This record gives sequence, structure tokens and C-alpha cells, in this order.
Amino acid sequence: MTDSNSDTDPDTRAPPDAASHVCERCGRPFARGEYLALHRGLRHPSDLSAAEREAFEAAREEEEADLRRFRLLALAALVALYFGFLMTYAVVT
Ligand SMILES: [Zn+2]
Repeated sequence: MTDSNSDTDPDTRAPPDAASHVCERCGRPFARGEYLALHRGLRHPSDLSAAEREAFEAAREEEEADLRRFRLLALAALVALYFGFLMTYAVVT
């Protein structure tokens, strides 16, 4: 499938034997139902049913929670690295 946004779309090919979730509007396959719900909300926001909109909101909230968790872990790793180097510097010199 090609559309006007194909240059910025992530690669969503799924193995042919895998059970995939296919967008009924544009035919793109997704490995997980949450990805399909996110795709529907971002690419086809004007013609969503109530259940599809609810699935999109739930998937987006879960995605944002995952991003918050990742940012917190990345910050913790940077702080640990910083103090690791600081303590190494204090011991060595
Ligand atoms: Zn689609």
C-alpha cells in the first residue's frame, strides 16, 4: 500500500504466516492489535466508530505510559553513569 505519508511511515510488514491485524481501510498489516488501533486513530481519525476510538484512546494512553517509563529509566541511567564516573574520578585522582 502506498499513500502520501509513506516516506514517514514506519515499516509495518508482517511475516506472511503470522496472525496479523489488517487495517480494513488501507490494508496495512500490523503485528499487534494495539498498533492497529493507534494506526486507525492517527491515519483515519475522521471515520472511527465509538469502539475504535475507545481502543485508540486506550492504546495511546498505554503508549504514553511506556514513554514516561522509558524517559524515567533513561534519566536514572544517565544519573548512575554520571555518579559512576564521578566516583571513579574521585578514587583514581
Ligand atoms: Zn489504515
